[in-house]
Amino acid sequence: MERYRDRAARVRAFGERVLAPTIEEEFRAARPNPAAIPAMAAEGLLGWSLPPRYGGLGHDYRALAVLCEELGRIDAAHQITVTVHLALVGLSILQWGSEAQRQRWLPLLARGERIATFALTEPGAGSDVGALIASARRGGPGYVLNGEKSWISLADEATLFLVFASVDRARRHHGITAFLVERGTPGLSTTTYPGKLGIRAGSTGSVIMQDVRVGPDALLGQEGEGFAVAMAALGNGLYTVGAGAVGAAQAALDATVAFLHTIDPSGTGPARSQWVQQRVARMVSGVERSRLLIHRAGALKNRGVPNARETGLAKWQATEAAFQACQDALAIRAAFGPPPYDPIERILANAKGSVIFGGTSQIHTGMQAGYALGYRPERAPRCPAPTATDLAAS
Ligand SMILES: Cc1cc2nc3c(=O)[nH]c(=O)nc-3n(C[C@H](O)[C@H](O)[C@H](O)COP(=O)(O)OP(=O)(O)OC[C@H]3O[C@@H](n4cnc5c(N)ncnc54)[C@H](O)[C@@H]3O)c2cc1C
Repeated sequence: MERYRDRAARVRAFGERVLAPTIEEEFRAARPNPAAIPAMAAEGLLGWSLPPRYGGLGHDYRALAVLCEELGRIDAAHQITVTVHLALVGLSILQWGSEAQRQRWLPLLARGERIATFALTEPGAGSDVGALIASARRGGPGYVLNGEKSWISLADEATLFLVFASVDRARRHHGITAFLVERGTPGLSTTTYPGKLGIRAGSTGSVIMQDVRVGPDALLGQEGEGFAVAMAALGNGLYTVGAGAVGAAQAALDATVAFLHTIDPSGTGPARSQWVQQRVARMVSGVERSRLLIHRAGALKNRGVPNARETGLAKWQATEAAFQACQDALAIRAAFGPPPYDPIERILANAKGSVIFGGTSQIHTGMQAGYALGYRPERAPRCPAPTATDLAAS
């Protein structure tokens, strides 16, 4: 545990120095900090859990949770950068890519010379991934991609897109295929949504593909294997979203403690009321339970043990606990003073996003029931997920 504490202290020091000072301003102005991603790259955070032989730092999954908790403690926008770039794309290339693809892309991702994002969701296909209509038809030696992806994090910043399209919609999940597409490929364009409720210090937008031609080397995994690629990627993505939610809940708790110390320095006034204490205790319980669930999932990932049930449970519980913690924190602030209620309003608005992406709470509820009832057997993917030993390989 000691080495995880060291890692947390390192990220916290970086975050407090570089990311935290301007975060409220960026959120209010809905303006991402253009220096944030280059600074994270320079610190090694974008290659945090990629193997040293591809230029990464080789940290294991529990250390990845620590990174995302510390970034989530500052703001979900920064944690999402790691979620899409590293957890959803970098680790997918490591798991499913050919050696040539790993050597081509992973050092660029580790150095931040390419910023990657994950483009699965469509206007008509979110929870129901099998409904996606983006198409990939064979053309020349490769494929021609058409379609629109919506709600894509870092759409305008990304320079490498892991895109999912179907070679045959009649085959539903079995037609979905994964492609790595570089910005600059003719026919690919992006836009950013203005005026979101949360994650305002980060961008989210659409990726549009109009006759985008890619070669056969763009294929990640095999034709028709994209659903398995997407689900494996989401197993890592939602793990990091859950870890980020632990950080958000911790930030809400820390802000509440600081506020109560300000209005009641001796602890004999409002802080002693049962109403306040119940809320503070519920926040503590949410943070601690979530952190344990996330680290249990991380320990399974480190050993290469199937963990979809444990990871999904951790994400669902952590994001719900963070949302509850923000509501408790806001209630306490509102009970004892007028607005503004920063940073709680910001953390609460962000927490709404966390219960949606990586699978909504309703989807995770159904999945957990399915596991308990024995309707959701876990199938081993063709390419096994990298273990902690694989991540550390030099
Ligand atoms: C800030 C943000 C960033 C995002 N970033 C990305 C990204 O980088 N890449 C990407 O691909 N996607 C991204 N997404 C999209 C996200 O993954 C989807 O929004 C999510 O999967 C839900 O899909 P949907 O919005 O289409 O909602 P829908 O699937 O249409 O769901 C609408 C409502 O119906 C409920 N529902 C749906 N199906 C069921 C069911 N079977 N049982 C019970 N209830 C159900 C849902 O829980 C939800 O409440 C992001 C979303 C947000 C908000």
